[in-house]
Amino acid sequence: MTELTPRVDMEKIVSLCQRRGFIFASSEIYGGLSSCWDYGPLGVEMKRNIKHAWWRAVVQERDDMVGLDASILMHPQTWEASGHIEGFTDPLVECKNCHLRWRSDDFTDNKCSSCGGELTEPRQFNLMFKTFMGPVEDTASIVYLRPETAQGIFVNFQNVLNTTRKRLPFGIAQIGKAFRNEITTGNFIFRTREFEQMEIEFFVKPQTDKEWFDSWIEERLNWYVNLGITRENLRLRQHGPEELAHYARDCYDINYLFPMGWAELEGIANRGDFDLIQHASSSGKSLAYFDEETKQQIVPYIIEPSAGVDRSFLAFLCDAYDEEPDQEETRVLLHLHPDLAPIKVAVLPLSRREQLVTVAKQIYADLRRCWMVNYDDAQSIGRRYRRQDEIGTPFCVTVDFQSLEDNQATIRHRDTMNQIRVPISELKTTLAAKLSGERFDTQPLWTAKG
Ligand code: ATP
Repeated sequence: MTELTPRVDMEKIVSLCQRRGFIFASSEIYGGLSSCWDYGPLGVEMKRNIKHAWWRAVVQERDDMVGLDASILMHPQTWEASGHIEGFTDPLVECKNCHLRWRSDDFTDNKCSSCGGELTEPRQFNLMFKTFMGPVEDTASIVYLRPETAQGIFVNFQNVLNTTRKRLPFGIAQIGKAFRNEITTGNFIFRTREFEQMEIEFFVKPQTDKEWFDSWIEERLNWYVNLGITRENLRLRQHGPEELAHYARDCYDINYLFPMGWAELEGIANRGDFDLIQHASSSGKSLAYFDEETKQQIVPYIIEPSAGVDRSFLAFLCDAYDEEPDQEETRVLLHLHPDLAPIKVAVLPLSRREQLVTVAKQIYADLRRCWMVNYDDAQSIGRRYRRQDEIGTPFCVTVDFQSLEDNQATIRHRDTMNQIRVPISELKTTLAAKLSGERFDTQPLWTAKG
């Protein structure tokens, strides 16, 4: 296999994100907070679109899935039963001189990278953030910020079963924040201490776990490809026996070729019956399922596809990023799938002449009821197109003097720069069709790569 190189440098992505308001450093005016990031006006739209696309694929369009939104703070016993208090740790060493702490597996010699001082023996450091519930800060009031959303699903298994009449196999999906006091962070939004997950816990009959495991791997890979990720930039990696988490029978990572190299985008684990058994024994409540066919109580197995919203965001951006020669300059553009693009349409009057502005503003008011739409009348039309290309807006609608006579406007397609002219009264239906994949001119608007 020939070695692939990443599509784009991280600096270009970070710079685009800051320049155009996708992502800012958290608390920037105070110098930023390490590894925390804020999604700006365009970032928040794109992030919502990613979550929406995931929800649509795994909940809305399936008969065998329902959603959940559990709280971040959970009963502390949850984390004992799940094994997080005991096992969710990284080995840390401390410098005896400057007291900085490091991950012990980052070192081959016994010297602090900062001051060269001697390091202590490794100690296990729990990655869960602790806080206190209520006014008294004692051990009885310790609660944790969840390090994954999954546990909220396991503890609600019976509630969902009782209220939805779902039978096996079925799954529960959840999107939400998770927190890990990671020792090594970095690579922009790739590894942060506060992040968002999109997790599925899919409950199956024990003897069917392998086929469901395979089918979810395929399903999840296709989701990324269908939304624009180049197939050859995705790889599956099976965990070796020594790296399998304590709960997992089998696990594959979907890795993406990020700017810093191949790294995990999503993990898909076969968790067996570990979680339901643990929570049943810790809580004393039955989490079994009555199988009508065999008339027996069984404990379902769980297949868990667990994706990161922020890592998906980074992967979609990197894969969409492109630069093309444009006379003496460079056209930067994001070939984002229309479903993910933060702004779907930009309305651009050719000039600020009142008659044009009036028509353009009417179009803007009409279209924005359907989609996120930009109105832009500043600077030359060429510059305005470039501004939209750089943020991935699939279509620009231009109103010119001809529009005043023939009641038509021009739609320009981001990727091909081809243009079509349509009656203003048909703009909405035409754009709706094009945004959902209808061919633009002679070119398809968008096709899966690779
Ligand atoms: P890694 O080995 O990269 O730390 P992990 O194997 O610990 O990841 P999981 O516990 O499988 O990650 O979490 C599922 C998904 O949640 C990951 O595939 C990733 O997309 C996301 N995720 C996990 N930790 C972080 C983090 N610190 N920052 C951003 N996203 C994260």
